[in-house]
Amino acid sequence: MTTKSLVKTMKSLIKENKGPGFTFKQSEIPKPGKGEVLIRVKLSAICGSDLHIYQWNNWAAGVGIKVPGISGHECVGEVVELGAGVTSFAVGDRVSVETHIPCGECELCLNGNQHICDNLTYFGLHIDGCFAEWALVPEVCLRKVPDFIPEKVAAILEPLGVGVHAAQVGDVQGKKVAVLGAGPIGLYSACASLALGAESVYISDLKQTRLDVASQCGEFKVFNPAETPISSIFNGNNKTDVIIETTGSAQAFNEALPFLKKGGKAVMVGLFPGDVPVNLSSLATKEITLSGISGRMMWETWDLMEQLLLENKLNVLPSITHQFPLEEFEEAFRVALNGEGVKVLLRP
Ligand SMILES: [Zn+2]
Ligand SMILES: [Zn+2]
Repeated sequence: MTTKSLVKTMKSLIKENKGPGFTFKQSEIPKPGKGEVLIRVKLSAICGSDLHIYQWNNWAAGVGIKVPGISGHECVGEVVELGAGVTSFAVGDRVSVETHIPCGECELCLNGNQHICDNLTYFGLHIDGCFAEWALVPEVCLRKVPDFIPEKVAAILEPLGVGVHAAQVGDVQGKKVAVLGAGPIGLYSACASLALGAESVYISDLKQTRLDVASQCGEFKVFNPAETPISSIFNGNNKTDVIIETTGSAQAFNEALPFLKKGGKAVMVGLFPGDVPVNLSSLATKEITLSGISGRMMWETWDLMEQLLLENKLNVLPSITHQFPLEEFEEAFRVALNGEGVKVLLRP
């Protein structure tokens, strides 16, 4: 047997250079180094950031993406090989991945804020990700997935965790919550708000298909701001306690802000393409808190999310609208980009 025949290859989506698109091709199956785990990817999911990388917009061009490299960071898989020193996992474990790779040494890491580590790098951005049959994951980012979580849901724990984190920071129990945007993150924020005991949850989007999917996930008050302006829903006597902003649209945020109660909280999740003019004096006089969130707490958010799933409080399956084989990624990205799909999965 020649050495060459021992080199196994895998299907993968490669970002070959700094520009639009991916290339579907065979690449070498990686070997786990110290502190790394090789997983067999069962399902991966397309994130908004993957759409940016696919289209290669300004955001993608500015985040230091590894090229050539494999994109994708949302997935469920199975551990197949352990690198040196890996002790918390065993071959056969079902796992998902926390995208944020902390350094473990900075002040933030040492104080329970690994998810916003000062030296943060990202799985599927700065190292190869999971749009492939196999993926290498740093042990520190791997998460065992309990058996009771269905495979499709296990593939979206990472974005679902953003919603859970947003609702947690919004302190939504007993509150009226307005979620701006019914894309995956908005939808998961709305689902988590209901799960955590919000009194009522409003959710807006310009796309009717997304509002329809939201209605299948929970008892939300859905509205399209192009047809039903937010000023016709909220007014002086009926304001919201919490806004969860996931659109990244300055217009959407500024239209909603006047309807946030005094003492209310706006949880900022969406990323805006540029600077946003905001009436800061109104925030001061109304004692409004703006809270940014980025990703999920490691691992408090995951613990809470699994508990809510165990209690059947997160009905997120309807959000998974499409699934394609990895080879058909062009169609998958088309469906995700034009808003036909909410969450689109890829099976390698
Ligand atoms: Zn994501
Ligand atoms: Zn750190």
